[in-house]
Amino acid sequence: MNHLKSIPVVRPSMPPYEEYIGEIKEIWNSRWLTHSGPKHQALEKKLCEYLDVDNISLFANGHLALELAIDALGLSGEIITTPFTFASTTQAIVRNRLTPVFCDINEDDYTIDVSKIEALITEKTSAIMPVHVYGNVCDVDRIDALAKKYNLKVIYDAAHAFGVKIKDKAVGNFGDMSMFSFHATKVFHTVEGGGLTYSNSKYSQVLSRLRQFGMVGQESVPTIGTNAKMTEIHAAMGLCNLRYINENIAKRGLAVNRYRELLSRVKGLTLCDLQKDISPNYSYFPVLFNKKEFGMNRDEAAALLEKNNILARKYFYPLTNDFGAYQGLFKLQQTPVAKRIADNVLTLPLYADLTVEDVDMICKIILQ
Ligand SMILES: *Cc1c(COP(=O)(O)O)cnc(C)c1O
Repeated sequence: MNHLKSIPVVRPSMPPYEEYIGEIKEIWNSRWLTHSGPKHQALEKKLCEYLDVDNISLFANGHLALELAIDALGLSGEIITTPFTFASTTQAIVRNRLTPVFCDINEDDYTIDVSKIEALITEKTSAIMPVHVYGNVCDVDRIDALAKKYNLKVIYDAAHAFGVKIKDKAVGNFGDMSMFSFHATKVFHTVEGGGLTYSNSKYSQVLSRLRQFGMVGQESVPTIGTNAKMTEIHAAMGLCNLRYINENIAKRGLAVNRYRELLSRVKGLTLCDLQKDISPNYSYFPVLFNKKEFGMNRDEAAALLEKNNILARKYFYPLTNDFGAYQGLFKLQQTPVAKRIADNVLTLPLYADLTVEDVDMICKIILQ
């Protein structure tokens, strides 16, 4: 058994080296390095096609995209969201000086439990920020109905959901805006980067200003903005990676199918079922460990894998409402399902270049 090979939890996909060098060659002549250059514009166009959306704005990273989405929509007061997510979702709300209100999640797909949203709405609520966590799609129709009824905006954290479709509708077409992260470890990446998709084209101008110091041209500064521009060097990586995205998602699918084959009928392990009517992107492979039935808890399983040079991740643990930065501010008992999932979940290695043999070895160690 090849125990010496080290397997990370995620590993960025890379385009062929020569292809990337070819893509950035023109930049040496043009010296147009950043600020809506030709690569940026080309990537915007290609991403609109691939994501099947009318509008996209690109940013230096997904987190700044999320912060600026809140700003662009003029939100205030409270935003209903979930704690079972990456730090970014909650931090984006708090950094805008708004209050996150935590809603619990579903037992089966870990997305926001829509039946619990209504009780959390107050006169201060301005928006809902659900997360398509692990690429699992939220109940977009019921969220849409609630938003209409209470006149709330909806921003989806779609960082995990690149390329996912619900029936035939692409995931970036729901709510007021959706944020995609193009971080190196995501299904599609620009090294660092992010995008906002939206159907109302009026946001395009607002977002361009916000990511460029609030400026319009050189002498007019009508808004307070930041610097969140995507560079040409990053956009070029995106143009290359987009050529391999379908192939990479298919390769991830093979690894996921193998994991399912080997782990789905094991007592004490709970896998996240593929959702009905969804074309998945196989972004993560979370497994819940039940010590009583399986004989090992999540922490023990993570330690065992680590001893064998395999790095699984407690993703997402701790919950964001349990962060040191927020001690004493939120009541964890208000999100009991999220707490239980966070305490028992382990995300197994998954990336395009993970082979079926790697998956066999990982499962063998877990099941030994
Ligand atoms: C990665 C991620 C983000 C932030 O994206 P960056 O591009 O890394 O800034 C936000 N939300 C979730 C759920 C993520 O996984």
